[in-house]
Amino acid sequence: MFSQSDFRPRCAKWLIATGLFLMLSACVDKPTTLERVKEDGVLRVVTRNSPATYFQDRNGETGFEYELVKRFAEDLGVELKIETSDNMDELFDEMQKPGGPVLAAAGLIDTENRRKQVRFSRPYLDVTPQVIYRNGQSRPTDANDLVGKRIMVLKGSSHAEQLAALKLKNPAIEYEESDAVEVVDLLRMVDEGQIDLTLVDSNELAMNQVYFPNVRVAFDLGEGRQQRWAVALGEDNSLLNEINSFLDKVQKNGTLQRLKDRYYGHVDVLGYVGAYTFAQHLQERLPKYEKYFQTSAKKEQVDWRLLAAIGYQESLWQPSVTSKTGVRGLMMLTQNTAQAMGVTNRLDAKQSIQGGAKYFAYVKDQLDDKIKEPDRTWFALASYNIGSGHLEDARKLADNEGLDPNKWLDVKKMLPRLSQKKWYSKTRYGYARGGEPVSFVANIRRYYDILTWVTQPQLEGSQIAESNLHVPGVNKVKPPEESPPL
Ligand code: GLU
Repeated sequence: MFSQSDFRPRCAKWLIATGLFLMLSACVDKPTTLERVKEDGVLRVVTRNSPATYFQDRNGETGFEYELVKRFAEDLGVELKIETSDNMDELFDEMQKPGGPVLAAAGLIDTENRRKQVRFSRPYLDVTPQVIYRNGQSRPTDANDLVGKRIMVLKGSSHAEQLAALKLKNPAIEYEESDAVEVVDLLRMVDEGQIDLTLVDSNELAMNQVYFPNVRVAFDLGEGRQQRWAVALGEDNSLLNEINSFLDKVQKNGTLQRLKDRYYGHVDVLGYVGAYTFAQHLQERLPKYEKYFQTSAKKEQVDWRLLAAIGYQESLWQPSVTSKTGVRGLMMLTQNTAQAMGVTNRLDAKQSIQGGAKYFAYVKDQLDDKIKEPDRTWFALASYNIGSGHLEDARKLADNEGLDPNKWLDVKKMLPRLSQKKWYSKTRYGYARGGEPVSFVANIRRYYDILTWVTQPQLEGSQIAESNLHVPGVNKVKPPEESPPL
């Protein structure tokens, strides 16, 4: 028991000690999360290992989320350290661990449940949850049609939450949540008929549509949503604020759009039907001509997949087509070009490919030395399509406008002017359908992207047979190679 006299000095000491402690803590502030990241020089990020997020290809790490978060780490001036979690639950568990990753960049939708565990950034990608079914089966059109179907979704995903909410209203809906699969597996299972339906975000479907010709969108389940990054709940705002201003910046300066185009642009350019048709032709037609593309590519020192992409753009890999203007064959050569390249029969696929390859190599060689790769390839394609004279005119127009005549991004803006009198009257070669080479190059680049994606380097010497076709699986899918935005 304290006596009154004991108590006073003790109390005073106590008060002094507490005061000192408070003063000290004010002087030595705990570093904020952002300060910690900068001090450590490392940004630890957790993600999912999937084509739409992060994976390894022969050139190293890649993926939409990876590319975006890498730029963020660069902005902070720190090293990026990626960790992958096997499933959604593990991902959110990791975020709770002290000393764990400070940021999740994993194509995440913000849901009510998740908001109890993490805080979300501003959005960077608009998506729609879509119910996916197999072509040929009866198409579900609304949530009631989910009853009686074998449905599988990712465990702990936003889609599992959506289904749980639906099941509350309609208990007859049954579905399985799996923590052993990724989105590509779900799509493959629908494609192969192992399950009836799955639910994925539209960006995941766009990414994978060309590999799964049988999968189709049944209907959009609910409103559009947005993918966001997440930080731990206790985070002191410093990192979240920094993330938000970074996302705002990349939105405004076009970086975000370029990444979206690169990763999700295939379906936009090809269209839904085009992507589907391409996937079919890839399996049915290309195997017949692949070896010709490879031999000619070797001889002319070009990538065979680029030649194959040109062939697809020209004739959809059909050797006997003839256009109204008299161009013919798989590579659609004119009579003059064919003659100049030593082609005697344009309808012979092998000769046509050889001629096209030789002509492409010739056209590329004629280009101004100042045009460097990868732009050089796009210029060569444009020249192949519209002729070197018109291309030169467009380069001059670019120069006059203060643009760079050696950059495809600049010259492609000028090409459509060649069909407007105001502009072509001042050029040397006059009128041309200048919009054509722009879409010609854009299409070929998309086909080329997909072909580089589906062909594995170790298979290049072999025929693309259905069994060799590289349908992406986790870890395996290859992205379009780095090249400037079109
Ligand atoms: N975006 C989903 C989610 O937040 C996961 C994967 C998907 O897009 O299908 O749970």
